[in-house]
Amino acid sequence: MNEASQAEIFRRLIAATGPISLMQFMGESNARYYSREEVFGEGGDFVTAPDISQMFGELIGLWLADMWIKGGRTEPVHFVELGPGRGFLARDALRAMKRYGLEPRAHLVEGSVRLRDVQLEQVPDAIHHHDLASVPRTGPILLVANEFLDALPVRQLVMTDQGWREVMVDVDGDGRFFPVAGRQPMDAAVPENRRKAQVGTIIETCPGAAATLFEVTGRLTAQGGAALFIDYGHASPRTGSTLQALRQHRKVDPFAHPGEADLTAHVDFDQARQVALAGGARWLGTTTQGEWLTALGIDQRAEALAAFAPQHRAALMAARDRLVDPAQMGELFKVMGLAAPEWPDGAGFPPQR
Ligand code: SAH
Repeated sequence: MNEASQAEIFRRLIAATGPISLMQFMGESNARYYSREEVFGEGGDFVTAPDISQMFGELIGLWLADMWIKGGRTEPVHFVELGPGRGFLARDALRAMKRYGLEPRAHLVEGSVRLRDVQLEQVPDAIHHHDLASVPRTGPILLVANEFLDALPVRQLVMTDQGWREVMVDVDGDGRFFPVAGRQPMDAAVPENRRKAQVGTIIETCPGAAATLFEVTGRLTAQGGAALFIDYGHASPRTGSTLQALRQHRKVDPFAHPGEADLTAHVDFDQARQVALAGGARWLGTTTQGEWLTALGIDQRAEALAAFAPQHRAALMAARDRLVDPAQMGELFKVMGLAAPEWPDGAGFPPQR
């Protein structure tokens, strides 16, 4: 099939209707992007924690199993993953859970039809869902989302000398995309205490992330269970654009290759916590990936695997370092734990009270 490129589609759309919102640009670009051939791993555009080592998914499986055991071993219980990528995390987590007598049905929420097939190679009896709505509503859910929220489209508002406007995307005479301020006044969309700002200030929000958290929180509160959100992001609110694009492991201009580069933005974990608390869930804590994996015993797990396969010792230790070293993924990536109101504390999170 000779499909029009995403860039062509946007150019025609903008020529016909004027600039489109950055949120639409990011959302449609990523939908196209994740339907492409291999995007993950060394040969693709980016590497994620489940690709680096099986230890990542195993420790997540252990954490969820620990919550389930402390939460009363309720059956039926559902494992849910949002945006499972190649399915490695689900495979490794389910294997670890099984050692603790936990064998939940696997529900994978995935938008890309091609990735669904890839995921079934790792978790053959998984049930796929377009979104959370069709996931069973009885029995606790044990949910994980790794690098899912960062892929959801962000909306940006920019302060101009005429007040707050939405960031839109326009195209120049050479067909190149660039951000512009929209014409519509957007002051009402900015909280009053943030409305006064210097010209050029950008406020970024992710309505999709907030909606996802709200929905997960509702499920936890109604059905019981626990959830882990792991992503790169910041723990306190800030201003400025965090939109970035990765292509073949390099940062590129986010406007240069729509549909052919991975567009992501930092997750606002402070907002995530507020949404979860407003929905009545327990916030178990937000910590760095390095601290969390270390508290869960990644060093011991690496040693155990190395004792079993000494020829892989150096590779195992390098993978461990990549996940926990503050200069690599350990500090930038955060882990947020949530649970149903009556569920227990989670391992690896410092006490909150
Ligand atoms: N968790 C995986 C993949 C992260 S990439 C890993 O850590 O390797 C983001 C994933 O979310 C992909 O599987 C992508 O197809 C999926 N995704 C992105 N936006 C989505 C949406 N709106 N609905 C469902 N899945 C989505």
